[in-house]
Amino acid sequence: MPELNNLPCCGPTETAQLKELPHAFGYDFDLHQCLGCGRTFIYVWSNAGAAGAWEWVPESTAQAMIDAEGEDLLSLLRDWAKEL
Ligand SMILES: [Zn+2]
Repeated sequence: MPELNNLPCCGPTETAQLKELPHAFGYDFDLHQCLGCGRTFIYVWSNAGAAGAWEWVPESTAQAMIDAEGEDLLSLLRDWAKEL
């Protein structure tokens, strides 16, 4: 079911959650796609209650994360999150 989110690309727009990603570095990550323009984003948030952030990811990165599972997915995510 689409959610309404305030995206950097299109403003308040429905997004589809593509995948729940693992926790890393004390944050939670979810992979979403903007239903306005099709861009893929990782929503970065923490349980501490601070507002989350939308980080654009190339479609190739998003696809790699969709295809990966377990340890492979975690190491992909860690490599990506290092650059935040
Ligand atoms: Zn968009």
